[in-house]
Amino acid sequence: MKDARTQPTPCPFCGYAIDAHAAVGHEQHMPEPGNISVCFRCAGVSKYTEQLSLDPMTEEELTLIKVEDPETYYYVQRIRDGIRKFFADEIIKKL
Ligand SMILES: [Zn+2]
Repeated sequence: MKDARTQPTPCPFCGYAIDAHAAVGHEQHMPEPGNISVCFRCAGVSKYTEQLSLDPMTEEELTLIKVEDPETYYYVQRIRDGIRKFFADEIIKKL
């Protein structure tokens, strides 16, 4: 999977400078307003604004996606689980 590079955009949850994006389920493209982003560092879910900054998504918004677009919700949750597992494994390696 190739990723797209953009100007660093801070994650609204942890401040991590997000500058790489990988698309899921379709061909790679640059982020567009309305696209969903999952932070690699904290697994926070955000949405791109018209200015391509990131707005945090609320649990209510995620619940709406779960109802209206279950496939997207499934991918978001799989990505979040993968990120959490990656960091959990990294912690275990250091013990
Ligand atoms: Zn983050």
